[in-house]
Amino acid sequence: MTSTPSTIKSAQVEATASDRDRIASFISDLPVAAALFDADLRYLAASPAWLAGFDLSVETVFGLRHQDLDPDNGAVLTALQQSALGGEAAEGCANAAAADGACPERILRVSPWHGPDGSVIGVVAIARDAWLAAANESAPESVDALTGLPGRDAFIGQVRAALVAAEGARRGAAVFVVNLDNFRGINGLYGVRAGDNVLRTIGKRVRAGVRSRLLSSRLPRSEGDYVARLGADEFGILIGNPTPSAAAAESFAQRILKLIEEPIVVGDHRIRLTASVGFLITGAPHASEDEVLRDLHAALHDAKSRGPNNVQAWRPALTRTTGHRFTLLDQLRRALEDGEFAVHYQPILRLGDRRIVGAEALLRWNHPSDGLVSPAAFLPILEDSSLIVPVGCWVIREVVRQMRIWQMLYGRDIVEWVSINVSPRQFNDPGLLLSTLTEIERSGFSLDRLKIEITESAAMRNPNMTRSVLDELRELGVRVAIDDFGTGYSALGALRHYAVDTIKIDSGFTSRLETDDGSELVMALLRIAQAYGAEVVAEGIETAAQRDILEARGCGFGQGFLFAKPMDGSFFGAYALTHLVQNGGAH
Ligand code: C2E
Ligand code: MG
Ligand code: MG
Repeated sequence: MTSTPSTIKSAQVEATASDRDRIASFISDLPVAAALFDADLRYLAASPAWLAGFDLSVETVFGLRHQDLDPDNGAVLTALQQSALGGEAAEGCANAAAADGACPERILRVSPWHGPDGSVIGVVAIARDAWLAAANESAPESVDALTGLPGRDAFIGQVRAALVAAEGARRGAAVFVVNLDNFRGINGLYGVRAGDNVLRTIGKRVRAGVRSRLLSSRLPRSEGDYVARLGADEFGILIGNPTPSAAAAESFAQRILKLIEEPIVVGDHRIRLTASVGFLITGAPHASEDEVLRDLHAALHDAKSRGPNNVQAWRPALTRTTGHRFTLLDQLRRALEDGEFAVHYQPILRLGDRRIVGAEALLRWNHPSDGLVSPAAFLPILEDSSLIVPVGCWVIREVVRQMRIWQMLYGRDIVEWVSINVSPRQFNDPGLLLSTLTEIERSGFSLDRLKIEITESAAMRNPNMTRSVLDELRELGVRVAIDDFGTGYSALGALRHYAVDTIKIDSGFTSRLETDDGSELVMALLRIAQAYGAEVVAEGIETAAQRDILEARGCGFGQGFLFAKPMDGSFFGAYALTHLVQNGGAH
């Protein structure tokens, strides 16, 4: 979908004072913490989550500046607002109010609000709890909002404490990891809300099971017991003093499985789930909490491979003895099975009107102990093995799932399309790639909302193969982009043979824009792209000056830290929606 400049203009001109009220009321209904300020930084609107997060009341904020209401955070917010008034989005940290007197950290993101003539007429701010952000990115540090249970970090801390406490003692602690079988199917079948309800119920059952120690006289209740949510569909249990024997721990795990198996009623549905459990009793082989978690997951992995509904105790043979470490490839294989991969999204904007038109999907690995890992650290290993093929298809399915969630949550498509990177290896072995896309199309998803990015150098490595796969992709309706354009040192004329919709100018060129050489080069690349009739996205835009030069030279679209860094799916949803509202229109 494209708008001509004149339709954009008229839509914007219609954004009058009454639109302002409409926007304000929209913000007030947003299910995320968001607020709108005028150019004088006075409140125009705030969502309930924003007000609650800063302990403000709706009656008192309007017409006032945040600084006057909340001096603790006022300075931080004002600095971010000033930057947004200057045309640049900015991010910072503040402290949220909490009923228990705690001050959880919140991430504030403030962006300019543009009026019909493109001038900045105010700012939009979004806040999210740092731990909520981290829940997607690495490890929650505080209580999990959905289940009310402590998160992964707290659990790791408890394991560490248990290891210290057990030093010199005869027996350590019993540690369990409980992972639901096929939980993702629940979200797909019944929707994310039902999925959330199921997780809440399971959390309660696990906690209740541990509290009562399932009425087992052999396992008296103890202060050392601990239950946490470790990941989307994963719970951790620690049973401290007195430590059960391995046999008692196993029968305890079996009873937890029985509790989980009980049907869960959500709306009109009775949902039945099973889970798999890995457990161990800490001892000599486990010097650190990392080793406990590693072995726990090895046991879980073993249970899953025998499951569903299976319990396995860790045994040394499950962990490779060579150096006591899984190889990175083993870890990556497990990461795919255990759902440790995640996709982050970076907005792509039309430079003319600064509207978000699309997003690039970027793979991340939520490493159990190292946190969020960038693709540079593991893509080469995925690509050296054939593992990139299933991981690549997982990314596509995950993006489609996320786009459906945005549509469900917001009742509209917040982006026209999402760009997905594919590796040359996926092109050399295109069967799974094409069958995944065909399957998605059959499920009723329009493939013109996906764009496949292939790097210029990969495209040139095997031109005939690339051409035939690109043709098949186009046949399916998928859009095609050439990534990192200009870095491949290819015979540019060869591009003529490919039907591509988009050319992405590599960030290396964007960063040299302000030099004479760099500027000439970009002009040349833009001319080539225009000759092919392709849209151009400039990557790596970090400064307003780069944006302005690109726009003046006719580059249609841009992406970069100036606008936003990649963010997880839920944050991107709120971000893009707020942007849509700011710009007063729908796609
Ligand atoms: P790419 O496709 O060229 O993606 C753009 C990269 O530039 C991303 O790095 C993004 O975070 C970064 N970036 C965006 N804006 C700026 C900016 O203003 N300044 C700077 N310095 N960097 C910016 P990331 O996420 O680390 O990804 C690196 C590369 O990994 C990607 O480069 C892409 O080639 C590859 N990749 C990412 N996800 C996937 C995937 O799912 N499959 C495959 N095969 N490759 C992927
Ligand atoms: Mg890319
Ligand atoms: Mg690129």
